Amino acid sequence: MKPIVDLRSDTVTQPTADMRNAMASAPLGDDVFGDDPSVNALQEKISALLGFEAALFVPTGTQSNLCAILSHCQRGDEYIVGQFAHCYRWEGGGAAVFGSVQPQPLQHQADGTLRLEDIEAAIKPDDAHFARTRLLALENTLGGKLLPFEYLQHATQLAKSKGLSTHLDGARLFNAATAQATVTGADVREEARRIAGCFDSVSVCLSKGLGAPVGSVLCGSRTFVASAHRIRKMAGGGMRQAGVLAAAGTYALDYHVDRLAQDHALARRLAEGLAEVPGLQMEAPQTNILFVDLVGSAKERSAELLQYLKTHGILATGLYRLRFVTHLDVDAVGIDRAIAAITGFLKA
Ligand SMILES: *Cc1c(COP(=O)(O)O)cnc(C)c1O
Repeated sequence: MKPIVDLRSDTVTQPTADMRNAMASAPLGDDVFGDDPSVNALQEKISALLGFEAALFVPTGTQSNLCAILSHCQRGDEYIVGQFAHCYRWEGGGAAVFGSVQPQPLQHQADGTLRLEDIEAAIKPDDAHFARTRLLALENTLGGKLLPFEYLQHATQLAKSKGLSTHLDGARLFNAATAQATVTGADVREEARRIAGCFDSVSVCLSKGLGAPVGSVLCGSRTFVASAHRIRKMAGGGMRQAGVLAAAGTYALDYHVDRLAQDHALARRLAEGLAEVPGLQMEAPQTNILFVDLVGSAKERSAELLQYLKTHGILATGLYRLRFVTHLDVDAVGIDRAIAAITGFLKA
């Protein structure tokens, strides 16, 4: 049996042997008392890396965004956010449910940005009719797209000039930084720090392309993180000997950042391999996510295609628009198998 090529998400990665060793030997304490040296080490590492005063280790990216929005906003406040942003569309409406914070979703432009004019027009005047607009929340990468750095500067400057706080859902911040570094020629960590530096708070997933089994980190000022820490406790996210997980995150930051470029190269290899296949349309991937639209007579065959791929040991998701995500457990041989299987199906 050939190994499964799982392209459903970069969340499916297994911790490597070295990562497991780092977890097994991590010094532990009770993090609710602030006593876990491995949690503290991770929080210090990421805050120093991204240029913040403090950071908080949380079980998931969803909880991280919730802690961030509820720290920036009070009941009756609102946050401006993209229609397709995770912290609006994919988190069960948590900010509204748990925090009575209303989202103000805006339509994205084709490059994933929100128009500055639209942001400005959505900021409500101080009037009893309106929710108080308090926060601009952006996401980078968004659907695998890198938001232009100058856009981030302009959007966050606009928000600040209007008295809004800014939050970045940087679940894939290091993928964004990797893509940006190929353009600027600078170091990936330096780019991550530049992107993060535009925002008051940043959330980063350790459990996606970075390959840790669990966890996200939320960075911000000391006051912000103290507030997020209180909300994390309320949300049931105060974990005890969490250093066993945090150690995986530290390992990932040390050893899995520089290899993200390989994932991006594999996504490009997949796109190039599929470029001439009839019935498929796609944009060149900027990071590790490739969306492929099924068009013409192929359009109605997406479910059938996914089933066919599954019988060939290749997993993906989507309907009409398929999503393929590369990560540390996929290699060129697997990508070439995926290309061959998709081509075989559509040419049949
Ligand atoms: C995955 C993801 C999250 C949420 O992370 P979970 O750990 O799955 O809760 C948040 N934002 C973005 C952009 C994501 O891709």
